[in-house]
Amino acid sequence: MIKRFLAFLLILFLFTNTIYSQSNDSIIINKIFSEALADNESYENLRYLCKYIGGRICGSVQAENAVSWIESLLLNLEIDSVYLQELKVRNWVRGEKEYAYILSKIFGKQEVNVAALGGSIGTGKEGLMGKVIEVKSFEELFELGSEIVNGKIVFFNQPLNPTYLSTFRAYGEVAKFRALGAINAAKLGATGIILRSLTLSNDFYPHTGIMFYNDSVKKIPAISISTNDADLLSSLLKVEGELDFFFKTTCNEYSEKISYNVIGEIKGNEHPEKIILIGAHLDSWDIGEGANDDGVGIIQCIEVLRLFKKLNINPSNTIRFTAFMDEEVAQRGGKKYAEIVKSKGENHIAAIEVDAGGATPIGFSVNADDSVYNKIKNWSDKFLKYGLYLIVKGGGGVDISFLKELNIPLIGLITDSQRYFDYHHSANDKFENVNKREMQLGSASLAMLVYLIDKYGL
Ligand SMILES: [Zn+2]
Repeated sequence: MIKRFLAFLLILFLFTNTIYSQSNDSIIINKIFSEALADNESYENLRYLCKYIGGRICGSVQAENAVSWIESLLLNLEIDSVYLQELKVRNWVRGEKEYAYILSKIFGKQEVNVAALGGSIGTGKEGLMGKVIEVKSFEELFELGSEIVNGKIVFFNQPLNPTYLSTFRAYGEVAKFRALGAINAAKLGATGIILRSLTLSNDFYPHTGIMFYNDSVKKIPAISISTNDADLLSSLLKVEGELDFFFKTTCNEYSEKISYNVIGEIKGNEHPEKIILIGAHLDSWDIGEGANDDGVGIIQCIEVLRLFKKLNINPSNTIRFTAFMDEEVAQRGGKKYAEIVKSKGENHIAAIEVDAGGATPIGFSVNADDSVYNKIKNWSDKFLKYGLYLIVKGGGGVDISFLKELNIPLIGLITDSQRYFDYHHSANDKFENVNKREMQLGSASLAMLVYLIDKYGL
């Protein structure tokens, strides 16, 4: 009888304890959201990063300024530890503003909006003039062969597929033309390439991004053209059959520079050696302000640290924020970070990256085994309350991808992606295109996830 009674008491205790723990969770999560949504500081910090530091490609003065500014922000938070991780970065410089025009037989000189692709060689002061050949795929290009392509400028004009719900998926499908277009066109003797900007938006912004060469083919200059100008070029080609195109770029690559990842930590009070990493990339393309890509991610991660401090949430494990340098050009920051994790044998519970823009958060991507995925999926009720309905497998982020081989669970914050590529890598990626409230929801969602991982593990 007594045994039964004791068993009953034990069950009652466990039950009330679970209930208590869960309601305690909702109180804390509620506080996280309230504090994040009432805060003005993080949005003002984003304004500073975008307007006063500006576009910050690795190797630039702006990137250097961003490193010291982020370091000082973290020091002001009075967290347990702030330090830099030294690394070397490439130093590609755009040079003068690009200039380009179509030479139409009917309309004469039609100036168009273009931007050199990152890593491209320049045309030199004299520019490059040539006949344009339009293609929509590499298959089409190779079918034309060197007889037709030789001496011409290849125009890759494949739009993003509008039928995919995720614009990242549409982008992923055509990004190969930016990455490998110059190599494949040069194999057939082309003199340069023009890439239709990788966006679903119809506008006059050229979108840049990294491109590659290889040593076995000639390096040729590469530019992107705005979607409106791409449509103009394509329609004139249809009407006139043959067209001359001129562009001038003065970009160049200089010797490598020293730069840094910036790291800030709140040490765990039970397991300081176990790390929950939150990260975003501090560098951005030079022609915009790096607001959605990825200033907002940087600011949201810093906000997580501030929220933990402000709300006196003392984590059991160490919460580490890393502002990665050089995601856009050669991912040297992510590589360096992983190298140090390996050499020190550091223990990571999870690595979370925020690099999908500042729009409304809708969930998380989980690149880990099923048990980790299921654990996160089991928190769905908590997430749903705040509009986070999507928990998908795969993903993570570029900077943290180098931790994959260490079997660390990789997680990415998913946002509403519909407008992301309207801004991505263009002059349109500016502060005004980040909505304060959507950004704050992202910070709070991230803080909630970190709180749950810290409390329940993965
Ligand atoms: Zn990014």
